[in-house]
Amino acid sequence: MDMDPTARPAIMGGAPVRTEPFTDRRTMGPEEKAAVLEVMDSDCLSAFIGGPGKFANGGPRVLEFEKAWAEREGFKHAVSVSSWTAGLVVACGAVGVEPGDEVIVPPYTMSATSSAPMFYGGVPVFADIDPQTYCLDPASVAACITPRTKAIIVVHLFGRAAPMDELMAVAREHDVKVIEDAAQAPGVRYKGQPVGAIGDVGGFSLNFHKHIHTGEGGMLVTNDDDVARLCRLIRNHGENTYDAEELPTTVNIVGGNYRLTELQAAIGTAQLDRLDGYLRTRNELADHFGQRLAQIPGLTPDVKTDGVGHAYYVYPIQYDAEKIGLSRNLFVRALLAELPPAAGFETTPMTEGYVRPLYLAKIYQRRHGWGTGGQPWSFNPDVTYDYSEGLCPVTEDLYNNRMLICPLIREPLTTTDVDDLVNAMEKVVACGPQIQEALGGGEEQILTPVASANKTDVR
Ligand SMILES: *Cc1c(COP(=O)(O)O)cnc(C)c1O
Repeated sequence: MDMDPTARPAIMGGAPVRTEPFTDRRTMGPEEKAAVLEVMDSDCLSAFIGGPGKFANGGPRVLEFEKAWAEREGFKHAVSVSSWTAGLVVACGAVGVEPGDEVIVPPYTMSATSSAPMFYGGVPVFADIDPQTYCLDPASVAACITPRTKAIIVVHLFGRAAPMDELMAVAREHDVKVIEDAAQAPGVRYKGQPVGAIGDVGGFSLNFHKHIHTGEGGMLVTNDDDVARLCRLIRNHGENTYDAEELPTTVNIVGGNYRLTELQAAIGTAQLDRLDGYLRTRNELADHFGQRLAQIPGLTPDVKTDGVGHAYYVYPIQYDAEKIGLSRNLFVRALLAELPPAAGFETTPMTEGYVRPLYLAKIYQRRHGWGTGGQPWSFNPDVTYDYSEGLCPVTEDLYNNRMLICPLIREPLTTTDVDDLVNAMEKVVACGPQIQEALGGGEEQILTPVASANKTDVR
């Protein structure tokens, strides 16, 4: 094909669409700095004491941060934790997951979602997701319910609120608890209700890559007094604080040290003030991006639904290789060649696949979570759990063939940056068959950091 050299794809020696780097995220400002210095001056970096009394629930900054978060959204309780992974474990303990209990989870999420139940001997059961919302498909969840099902962990994936009405209906019908993993969806509402505590308990991640953060950290939220009390006990050495009359159960409760420091809490309170602005920017950029993507045949933008909020932790796109005439992975490589090199995840223009379906990890394939007896699966010796390839076809198709993830729909980038990105996408799509013909064949290799980290060891 004869082409203008300026339109020749960069991956084939043409000029790239953009060389100026995309501005990285800047997360800390003068407010956080001042808050940290104030804690330093107080010389109290944590006030928790691992027993009953005044400091069983932390010091002034921890309490202030929790109150600010709860009041902002209208949650009855907010309980800070040292990470959201810790928060998920605490939540499983607080809703009463016991050895052999089954917990229904999606396979397309961060690994901690399905690992958390195993800390209490729970067995993860994977339901498939919906190809439009990327969240648990209520029909698939219903098909996974057994007399052993204790809880469902709903993930608000990529920042989009999951279909809570339908999922809650399934859970209530079968008297099953609901934990919401809203790590990627802080401040998001579903039909007016803040996600996180629509079910029994849920919460948010405060790790460095999330919308707002405290380096590491998490926030549990619930409207249930008993669940909140158990969360606080498990967070901080519940074995020392046991008071049988106040607990909803007659058993004692073992706790850990999953506490946030005063330094982190002070940063968190300052970060909370930034959340609305971040959500506004991301939604505006997402609208612009979506409108432009809709003009490109073969690319399907995120579908917005009335009443269903979105935080755009990342922006999801579906790719149709047949229509474009270029394999997905080669598309991503060609696109990256048109744009400046990334300094890290947040400046990566596009990745493919998101995470490998979790049940394909060795821990599930070998049914060996901890101990030497195949726990937690050995708690149900008569039950066969299926983790084979093909278990969740929607997830596998998205992972293998269709999913593109864009981390650039975020502050402080602008619609001009998004336009450069879309222009590069348009150029690669226009040259699709040409690139496939010249470079096709080796495209199975996934090069981007997030995907490759999850692709290394299969069984
Ligand atoms: C980030 C994340 C977690 C884990 O949170 P940490 O604070 O890093 O422990 C769990 N689930 C999902 C969906 C996440 O995105």
